[in-house]
Amino acid sequence: EQEDPMDRKETRLRVVVRVRPLTCPERRRGDQRVVHCLGDNAVYVNAAGQEAAFRLSAVFDAGTSQEGVFEGSGMKRLIELAANGFSCTAFAFGQTGSGKTYTLMGPLAQSEGQPATPCLGLGGLMQRAFVCLLEQTQCYRPGLVLSASYVEIHNEQVRDLLSPGPARPLPVRWSKTRGFYIENLLTVEFGSLEAIMALLQEGTRRRRSAAHALNGHSSRSHALLTIRIRRKAVSPEPSSCQQGALCFVDLAGSERVKDTGSAGERLVEATNINRSLLALGHCISLLVDPRRRRSHIPYRDSKLTRLLAESLGGSGITLMVACISPSSRCLTETLRTLRFAGRAK
Ligand code: ADP
Ligand code: MG
Repeated sequence: EQEDPMDRKETRLRVVVRVRPLTCPERRRGDQRVVHCLGDNAVYVNAAGQEAAFRLSAVFDAGTSQEGVFEGSGMKRLIELAANGFSCTAFAFGQTGSGKTYTLMGPLAQSEGQPATPCLGLGGLMQRAFVCLLEQTQCYRPGLVLSASYVEIHNEQVRDLLSPGPARPLPVRWSKTRGFYIENLLTVEFGSLEAIMALLQEGTRRRRSAAHALNGHSSRSHALLTIRIRRKAVSPEPSSCQQGALCFVDLAGSERVKDTGSAGERLVEATNINRSLLALGHCISLLVDPRRRRSHIPYRDSKLTRLLAESLGGSGITLMVACISPSSRCLTETLRTLRFAGRAK
């Protein structure tokens, strides 16, 4: 079977923006809408005498459905490449409350006294990608095996969200053959949408229980769900065949923590988030520059960039979804998110 080579002219990094609708509290407060989409690839921000426009790969306004984002973001191309042995990553970026989790997982179902979990209904990019990937593997390539791992990075510590054991931090190591990898990470094979949704729900519940205990901790951690796609071994020999991967990253809220009043634990968290997002931005800006792509990329600057090294630096595509609120109250953070997105583009 012939591998589908990547089109040489294809952009390795797609940066899209999604503007969420004003929430009920924002409407009630009378917040102004200060973000406007221009055509299908630019946004325009106009408030308090500030005016700025940003051009991106695509923009989705508040009226765009989950399906619309899935179709318009080019997610299908990432899935296709991953099924062909490439490593692709989709991540959501933006301040807390801007719609990152909604975009990746859809609205979280809330049941009495229980932490919220993702549901299938208004499924986000992840559920839609699972359906598409399962369809591809089952209908066209029955020889492929899918497996998942799900981790959280909080304060530069990696925690396995699929492991029922105690939440011990796992070490990130490097080897010549494997690159960066997480030691003792649980990887679970799956073959149906129900199975992968159960894993996603279980892990997300674990992440959010910690959030309840630690007061909003989930918005201050990065969550990485990785699907690996490998060919079923036909002979007992270790196969040298390339393994594809599709990684979804729900990044920690990118907002600046107000310097006054943040101390101790919060300040440590804010510093770690800031450092890892800066490291990510730095690696991406080097990788998108064809002249510097071959130079030294400082993946070692954070756990996040170590774990994404293979996906970012490999031959696949990275999709970055910048999530923003349309509200005048979020102006400062919205502009920061758009500048980050614009720099990556
Ligand atoms: P984040 O993960 O960035 O902190 P969330 O995804 O939790 O933000 O979104 C914050 C709130 O806004 C949630 O109640 C979510 O359901 C709602 N929301 C976000 N994006 C949308 C959207 N595109 N359409 C409708 N509701 C949305
Ligand atoms: Mg979230």
